[in-house]
Amino acid sequence: MTILRLALPTPLRRLFDYLPVPGVDCAILVPGIRVRVPFQSRRLVGILVEIVQKTDIPLRKLKKIIEIIDAEPIIDHDINKLCHFAADYYHYALGEVYAAAIPTLLRQGKDAIVKKKSILLANTMGQCTEPLTLNDDQEQAVRAVYAKKDQFQVYLLDGVTGSGKTEIYLQIMAHMLAQNKQILVLIPEISLTPQTVKRFSERFKVPVVSLHSNLSDADRLSAWVLAKSNQASIVIGTRSAIFTPFRHLGLIIVDEEHDSSFKQQDRFRYHARDLAIFRARLHNIPIVLGSATPSVESFYNAKINRYQYLSLPTRAGKAQLPDFQLIDVRQSPAEHGLSKVLLQAITKHLAAGNQVLLFLNRRGFAPVIYCPQCAWIAGCKRCDMRMVYHRKDHLLKCHHCNAKRPMPKACDLCSAPHLQILGLGTERLEQALAEYFKDIPLIRVDRDNTKRKGAMHELLQQIHDHPCAILLGTQMLAKGHHFPNVTLVGIIDADCGLFSADLRAAEQMGQLLLQVAGRAGRADKPGTVMVQTKFPKHDLLQLLIAKGYLPFVEQLLTERALSEMPPYSFLALIRAESLSQERAREFLEQVRSITISGTDDIELLGPISATIAKRKGCYSQLLLLKSKKRMHLQYYLRLLVPEIEKIPNAHHIRWVLDVDPLEVL
Ligand SMILES: [Zn+2]
Ligand SMILES: [Zn+2]
Repeated sequence: MTILRLALPTPLRRLFDYLPVPGVDCAILVPGIRVRVPFQSRRLVGILVEIVQKTDIPLRKLKKIIEIIDAEPIIDHDINKLCHFAADYYHYALGEVYAAAIPTLLRQGKDAIVKKKSILLANTMGQCTEPLTLNDDQEQAVRAVYAKKDQFQVYLLDGVTGSGKTEIYLQIMAHMLAQNKQILVLIPEISLTPQTVKRFSERFKVPVVSLHSNLSDADRLSAWVLAKSNQASIVIGTRSAIFTPFRHLGLIIVDEEHDSSFKQQDRFRYHARDLAIFRARLHNIPIVLGSATPSVESFYNAKINRYQYLSLPTRAGKAQLPDFQLIDVRQSPAEHGLSKVLLQAITKHLAAGNQVLLFLNRRGFAPVIYCPQCAWIAGCKRCDMRMVYHRKDHLLKCHHCNAKRPMPKACDLCSAPHLQILGLGTERLEQALAEYFKDIPLIRVDRDNTKRKGAMHELLQQIHDHPCAILLGTQMLAKGHHFPNVTLVGIIDADCGLFSADLRAAEQMGQLLLQVAGRAGRADKPGTVMVQTKFPKHDLLQLLIAKGYLPFVEQLLTERALSEMPPYSFLALIRAESLSQERAREFLEQVRSITISGTDDIELLGPISATIAKRKGCYSQLLLLKSKKRMHLQYYLRLLVPEIEKIPNAHHIRWVLDVDPLEVL
């Protein structure tokens, strides 16, 4: 009796048994191939996991597969191990993990062939760029990695912005390419891809592909096949590129390792950086995690020598680190977000013919529409959120569910006219700046004006074309871009991250602040960073600005140790969503009451309402699980998850499990 055990793309955490088509040669049935099967009233493409002789399901109930799609496994040995590990560790269905790991067209059962070879960026024209001369710190970093190039080791490359991390990547890569090894480079943002890809493809005479979510399905499949068949030597990709198959993988680089976009926040919730570490161990190869602002976890791992710490404390070349100044907006009141001190500085830097960058992490015109008669605030009907006024479209928009409505002429509650428009977004800041600086080009960069394909590129070109200009925008402007003419960076409002109770709010505030600051003074022009705050005496802010990032992280570690939070403990979050708040809560109460014996150090916190209690019409309730030992938490989850699935009304509740969550509120 031959029974095919398959993983199917469903959230059901189990495998499915099928019978082969009659007369099939069993020799072609190897794990990792795709087969098409009937499933309920649909047809699904599944992956063969194993062939077994016995099943608990009555034979007459077993269905036959429809067809075998592949002659060779689509999921190779290494990717299979990676997927099994991910399914186990994050407690998701193997079928769902496979589905995340392969390109859409393969999921649909299409052939694994290169559709478009133009996806391959080969540097066939002329010269490669020359390697730069390294300073001592850079030299040491390259040598450290190369010394153990054939074994698993995690390196944390901690280098201030402008310290030449990319050059280190390139020189380590050169060594690997010389041995015909393939290289995987993970980067956080799609908008960064062109620059990074260009820099990498101009250095080496090898084929490079980039994998990101803006690719067409055909391009994505082509890139996947080229990597698998060793026709691409370098793969640069965002999060999901961690599942790319390689024949001779020799090195993984994770750039901006602290970036939260490496964590998938919906469906199968995995962290690409953490999977990359597992994968490097699997292949027995080095992995370099680079950042100017390493995550607290990675820094901790370096501190306890789990990772090798490589430090680049100075900027490469002549560039100086910027000067920080805190502006107390209570002393120097801000009009339209701009204090007198900041305004004077902007005027000065523009007069010198330089660029000024202003950072405000809130798009739209104003975040609050308020009725002074009855204190009504315009909120989203589907979410527990205020609606943001967008002046250009004259609409109120919910930034969580994209709901829109015309700007009301009067209060919804008391019909009083004259609603007040309170607070500041990038649109409003732009308007104010246009008043103050009439002849200066203003270039705004946020999600509202970069949606169109090519829009970001045009804006970057404008920035390049106007050496004297004001750039303003959200964190889209803060990440990775190189603006050599910026000499002044103004942080309009540094306070949002300081007082949030969420686990990583302070860490992310510090990282973002330094990322933005890093845009200043990159070339030979020294930079100034001005930070507007109502709380200039705040300990963390003081520490960050006076002493720098490492003492700041040390302080965060001390606080995490006191509160027994990661990296001193391990977390998993169960989020239940329902149209009824009570139902979501009851469900988590039931989860909480499940007894799992054999573990006594699991702490259960909740159920509590999520910070945004209602989203898109659904109420969210949370249950947090915490343990001092990763193994204990894993053991607990392994027994708990099947029990949750047995809860009678579990199907009526949408619930998700998030292991190592980034946000816990
Ligand atoms: Zn009113
Ligand atoms: Zn909404």
